[in-house]
Amino acid sequence: MYQRTISRSIFFEGTGLHSGEYSAIYLLPIDENSGIKFEIDGKVFDVTPKNVCNTLQNITLCFGNYSIMTVEHLFSVFLGLGIDNVLIKVIEGKEIPIMDGSAKVFVDRIKEVGLVEQSTRKEYFFIDKEFSFYKNEEQYLIVRPNSRLIVDYEIDFEVIGKEKIRLEINEETYENEISKARTFGFIEDSEKLKNVGLALGASMENVHVYSKVQGKSLNGDRYQNENVRHKVLDLLGAIALFSPRLVGEFIARKSGHFIDTKLIEMVFNYTLSNS
Ligand SMILES: [Zn+2]
Repeated sequence: MYQRTISRSIFFEGTGLHSGEYSAIYLLPIDENSGIKFEIDGKVFDVTPKNVCNTLQNITLCFGNYSIMTVEHLFSVFLGLGIDNVLIKVIEGKEIPIMDGSAKVFVDRIKEVGLVEQSTRKEYFFIDKEFSFYKNEEQYLIVRPNSRLIVDYEIDFEVIGKEKIRLEINEETYENEISKARTFGFIEDSEKLKNVGLALGASMENVHVYSKVQGKSLNGDRYQNENVRHKVLDLLGAIALFSPRLVGEFIARKSGHFIDTKLIEMVFNYTLSNS
């Protein structure tokens, strides 16, 4: 398998889920072995898990004085569609636009434009020992050796209840089973989040909204267990924070951005010390 980039530039614009502000980015093709890079204010930055500077309700990356929020959904697309090299040029705003709350719009536009193969082979890192990060007994993430990328995820939230999924991640399963799952939230929490400056751009159009009072979703379901699928999407976004691509079996229980990025940073440090 050879490395891939997008065949031409793609423009995305919309609202930032948390900032509530207009944001616009270009995705641009970039040379092989470049990985995923950001261009902000004319300066170009590499991305590693070391750039993660906030994991409250989103993954925020910091590069010196610059920051960019909610990168996880777009990053999951790079892993899901097998895009190795791409430049994200930030035109306006400090957040990746939320689009419909899932990765669907990114996937559709990128597939419309198409990918090109480059002349260098893809690199993989096969997990060769177990890593785990426990926030507590119930919330943790483990990765174990496996010849495939497998995700086994379970969540248990009030109203939503238990949702579980186990699947191998490849282009087809990512697109069909994961990419359309929206971020979820409770309508009763929205005031509280807005008071601390989060979810300012949240709406029925970009969040799978639940009501604790009514005990159900207020805007339908795209999958039977859409919420755990979105958690898989978020985890893939964290895995995509560095290359080579990780291959192994991820076991997640009530995980989230904090746990996901902590474990990925551990694996990243390990790959550095073993390279
Ligand atoms: Zn998400």
